[in-house]
Amino acid sequence: MNDTFLDFDENSWGRLKKNLKKIVGDNSYNNWLKHLDLLSFEKNILSLSVPTKFLRDWLVNNYADKIKLECRKSNYNIEVLKIVVKPIGGRIVPGTARIIKNDDKQWNNTFDIRKSQTYTSATDFGAPLDPRFTFDNFVVGKPNELAFAASQRVAETEKVTFNPLFLYGGVGLGKTHLMHAIAWKIKERNPNRKVIYLSAEKFMYQFVRALRYKDTSAFKEQFRSIDVLMIDDVQFISGKDNTQEEFFHTFNALIEQNRQIVISADKSPSDLDGVQERLKSRLGCGLVADIHPTTYELRLGILIEKAQKRGVEIPSKVLEFLSHRIVSNVREMEGALNRLVAHATLVGTSISVETAQVVLQDLLKSSNRKITIEEIQKKVAEHFNIRLTDMHSPRRSRSVARPRQIAMYLAKSITSRSLPEIGRKFGGRDHTTVMHAVKKIEELKQEDNNFNDDIELLKRLIDS
Ligand code: ADP
Ligand code: MG
Repeated sequence: MNDTFLDFDENSWGRLKKNLKKIVGDNSYNNWLKHLDLLSFEKNILSLSVPTKFLRDWLVNNYADKIKLECRKSNYNIEVLKIVVKPIGGRIVPGTARIIKNDDKQWNNTFDIRKSQTYTSATDFGAPLDPRFTFDNFVVGKPNELAFAASQRVAETEKVTFNPLFLYGGVGLGKTHLMHAIAWKIKERNPNRKVIYLSAEKFMYQFVRALRYKDTSAFKEQFRSIDVLMIDDVQFISGKDNTQEEFFHTFNALIEQNRQIVISADKSPSDLDGVQERLKSRLGCGLVADIHPTTYELRLGILIEKAQKRGVEIPSKVLEFLSHRIVSNVREMEGALNRLVAHATLVGTSISVETAQVVLQDLLKSSNRKITIEEIQKKVAEHFNIRLTDMHSPRRSRSVARPRQIAMYLAKSITSRSLPEIGRKFGGRDHTTVMHAVKKIEELKQEDNNFNDDIELLKRLIDS
């Protein structure tokens, strides 16, 4: 930083962002301006960064004046505002600087004002896109690979291949994420293409409003110049006959003009209740890609990615634990991660399986069922990759003896069985052997943090 102007620092930046938030409102702030970071202030040039090129363009095109004004208010010496692209955790991408000068409205790149108008009018009618929902941020696994590949294809080719692309799957599995990613990609590749993304509810609402104001021709007009139409959660129009009718016509008209359509729903076209047959068959005539429920591997992959993006260190044991225990959907899992991080930052504790267990109690609703010694033996044998019969066998090699001791320890701490009872279940061993095992494992847990985490993880897995 330049000595003369030390008065613009992280604090000034914090205040400036707060002011921006007040001016543009929480929504716009969270969608766009939040991603701006302070890079440097040197020689009257204030440099800011954003993680993607698209975000940079969007900010420059839509918020340049507001940002500039706030900067000037906070420090009169700022003459030039520079916004560059710096991916999260990466370096500045060379050649991405957009300069906004104080005295004129020009910046060094050729910038076509019409583009920004297309963006705005398109999104005025449609819904705003979440900058986090990009292909880069989407973790691909078996359950979603088809949907992902199809979405990428649609985004990357202007020639219409499958029409419509119909994505379906349960709540929180990434349908909306993929649709936004398609929109971002298309706009990035060719900002002149007109992409409209909106929910089926919004479509319906606009149509009903048009009916009320007897202005359906204007409603139809809006769709005429669209290149790509994306309608999210189309199950919402089930039973709404008028809307369906209108949707059907819009849909047909666009398909006839060879415009791309992308639809999402929570069910396959043929399973959509309360939707006219002809619409169902129309919806299913392109490519239908379903997103399956997540697998453990995918959940873990997503958590690792999200933790990295947030720049927080989370022990892998904790991530494994969350992926095992929160199976409903990705949104819930993300929520759990956020809560955990927030808790750790606020309270100042480190993140561990134990804190996760406490903080996420309500999500983890552990069942009250009785756990048997056999179940414990089975889980432990699986975990250490030994045979179940080794739990009862007289073999004493370390590779089976230690897991056996762990299983005894867990039997003691999870069930209410007595030492002799436990001994009997482990091939008729004496109660002193069990006692010894319990002591030994307790010692090891004390001595070795990793070992301790491992045991705690096992405990929770058995408990679930
Ligand atoms: P849906 O529209 O299917 O209900 P969303 O697209 O809103 O689900 O996804 C819910 C949340 O989960 C979003 O924050 C999204 O980013 C995240 N998510 C879902 N699937 C993935 C994935 N494969 N990779 C990364 N994030 C994902
Ligand atoms: Mg959705």
